[in-house]
Amino acid sequence: MEEIVIIGSGCAGLSAAIYAARAGLNPVVIEGSQPGGQIITTTEVENFPSWPDGIAGFDLTWNMRKQAEKFGTKIVGASVEKVDFSGESKKIFCEGDIVFEAKHVIIATGAAPRMTGAKNENDMYGGKGVSTCATCDGAFFRNMPVCVVGGGDTACEEATFLSRLCSEVYLVHRRREFRASKIMDERVRSNPKIKLQLDSVIDEVLPDENGRCRGVKVRDVKTGEEKTIDCKALFLAIGHIPNTGVFKGQVELDSEGFVKTLGGSMVKTSVKNVLVAGDCADRLYRQAITASAMGVMAALTIINDL
Ligand SMILES: Cc1cc2nc3c(=O)[nH]c(=O)nc-3n(C[C@H](O)[C@H](O)[C@H](O)COP(=O)(O)OP(=O)(O)OC[C@H]3O[C@@H](n4cnc5c(N)ncnc54)[C@H](O)[C@@H]3O)c2cc1C
Repeated sequence: MEEIVIIGSGCAGLSAAIYAARAGLNPVVIEGSQPGGQIITTTEVENFPSWPDGIAGFDLTWNMRKQAEKFGTKIVGASVEKVDFSGESKKIFCEGDIVFEAKHVIIATGAAPRMTGAKNENDMYGGKGVSTCATCDGAFFRNMPVCVVGGGDTACEEATFLSRLCSEVYLVHRRREFRASKIMDERVRSNPKIKLQLDSVIDEVLPDENGRCRGVKVRDVKTGEEKTIDCKALFLAIGHIPNTGVFKGQVELDSEGFVKTLGGSMVKTSVKNVLVAGDCADRLYRQAITASAMGVMAALTIINDL
């Protein structure tokens, strides 16, 4: 039986592995279909501490992986299809009939950003102007016009954040009213740098000659009228889908599928010896460094309880 199996090889999973491995627990990391996690889809990470000149997303988690392996982590190239957390020994069933039994499990399966489905959106995602994270990418568009799509608290927060950096922020929302809290709603409506495009959807992201975003084509859902907004970036703020389907019925999830943390802890789940870390439990911060920190907390919780 393994001491620790970590499900997911993003910042959360690999940071947990570094700590568990250095504590001599020989962790197993099941890496899933995206080795290195979401951050590998971005060309440059400028806000991970200790990289003053920035670092490519791929290199960031590749370094974490090498560090984890150096201390004895075993990395398994498979995805988890089913788990059984009912007994003392936690069972993890992977594709290809690989089965692990473990005393402790850390769930670190991340979350996938929702996309709008606008034309060209995927081609320009992760480095060419389409982003799902204003905190991560806003600084690349200082003093430039940008667009945000969404109508909840996240969209309003992202628009407000970007208004401090960018020349203009167009906030596109498919309805007239925001779902955001009253205070966020008032904040965006009174911000002179935020221009509202209500009852509107984005049909297309327009590329420049280098394939980077130069604007978006917006359609009024009531009148059908189309227009182009010139902007250098499109920030998608329409939510995330946590990768937690395989844990349904095994640990408590919230109404949107994020793993619930209990007992005042940021990493303890409803099941003893099953911990969670990173974006699959964190709907607020969603940063590489916060995912790493949660991974460390989860590993230390296990180490300290041994
Ligand atoms: C384009 C882009 C740019 C970003 N830029 C920045 C930035 O500049 N700075 C910053 O701090 N943050 C940035 N982020 C956010 C950052 O990438 C995430 O907050 C961070 O990756 C979350 O780490 P995680 O380990 O929780 O999850 P993830 O990185 O999502 O990793 C999840 C892991 O779980 C695995 N997995 C999923 N399901 C299964 C399964 N069933 N079985 C086994 N494994 C599974 C996946 O293969 C993956 O390895 C960016 C995100 C994106 C998408």
